[in-house]
Amino acid sequence: MFITLNDWKGIVVDIDAIPEEWDSKWELLPEIGKKKILLCGINKERLKKIKSNGEALLISEETPFEPLLFYHKAYAHILELLGSKSAQTVVITGSRGALKQAQNCGISSIFYCKEEEIPAELITMLPDHIAQSWEDIEKIIGQECAGYLAERRVQRYANQQKDQDTLMRTIQTELEIDETHTCPLIAAGRYFSQNDPRAYGHQLSKRVLLHKWEDTAQTEIFTEIYREIIKSAAWESIDAITRIPPKDSRQFDRFAEITKAIAADTSAEDLSDSLICVKKYGSQRTLNRAEREANVQGAFEMKKRVDGKQIVLLDDILTSGSTAQEAAKQLYVAGAKKVTVVVLAIKQDINRFLEDALQPIRCRKCGGEMQLRINRTTQEAFFGCRELYNKEAPCTYIESYQKGLERRNLDAGFFHEQEDRYLF
Ligand SMILES: [Zn+2]
Repeated sequence: MFITLNDWKGIVVDIDAIPEEWDSKWELLPEIGKKKILLCGINKERLKKIKSNGEALLISEETPFEPLLFYHKAYAHILELLGSKSAQTVVITGSRGALKQAQNCGISSIFYCKEEEIPAELITMLPDHIAQSWEDIEKIIGQECAGYLAERRVQRYANQQKDQDTLMRTIQTELEIDETHTCPLIAAGRYFSQNDPRAYGHQLSKRVLLHKWEDTAQTEIFTEIYREIIKSAAWESIDAITRIPPKDSRQFDRFAEITKAIAADTSAEDLSDSLICVKKYGSQRTLNRAEREANVQGAFEMKKRVDGKQIVLLDDILTSGSTAQEAAKQLYVAGAKKVTVVVLAIKQDINRFLEDALQPIRCRKCGGEMQLRINRTTQEAFFGCRELYNKEAPCTYIESYQKGLERRNLDAGFFHEQEDRYLF
């Protein structure tokens, strides 16, 4: 759950938001005998037809909610029907509202999006998987699909495993620059900030931070990932490459080796010397979107004309996008024909479920606080004692995710008691 699909027992299918051609295929999914599938939707005729073909399938005919998956409360019924806990459940949907509610309930998600590009409003609440076709669904459910490219590459690199994964996704969307310009944005994974429980054990988030702190050990794997993204996009049509410049020219440029290596590999020119930072802007961390825009306005300058050129602009984490937008703007001002922003990861919002999960529970051993964490190897969630890092008396007590949730009443029963304030 959260990051990969672990030990799932039930699938919820939002038929209103997926293609009708898939209706006859659900019962053919691998391992269907051991797991349960619940189909939900407002189209009663369609549900009836599916039911007549698939005896093993559950249908949500008697639900009082329409459309079911937009209702926070409905998930308690869903989990009851499936006989699975939220962490063992996955929702397949193509609707933003249903995706959001699934995430708010701690349920894994597969988002169906036929197009290569995903809606820009989803980039800070990315699903666990993106599927573009039925074949993708089969691969994801069959655990063959690996997820986001950078997350998998880095995970494998950390575990010194060989890459065997198929179907690795990048996130493609568009950034608005000004009235006349937009630029494609390609990202290769998700970034979880340090107060996000998903960050614990998430190799990509950890390494991106180390890289920011001038740890050059990350250069090799990051160069590989950037190279792979650029290659899959449009390797031949790129004229030049550059990056978000360091705030001060005397400061370490963490992209210097990367742009150099990629330029050497292709005929692309390395424009890093020409795009410079001319304003010492403060940290963006605590600012909102409008403040971020104002903060970086006029921060960059392009010293050279780049008329008609197609340029790749690198950054590591995309937060609000305002830094990348401002730099891309300068490249357009200098005559660029097309600027493509390539980032390793997009910062993810902390959803309501994670916010609740962040409330600590008492440790049964030392009386300290326990926190939700994700296992580094299996990516499974658990509660661990905060006193683990206490030098004098480290406490190694852990509790399973379900047990911890039950103690806090955060699972199914909890939703019954909530008012409808999360409905939309
Ligand atoms: Zn403890």
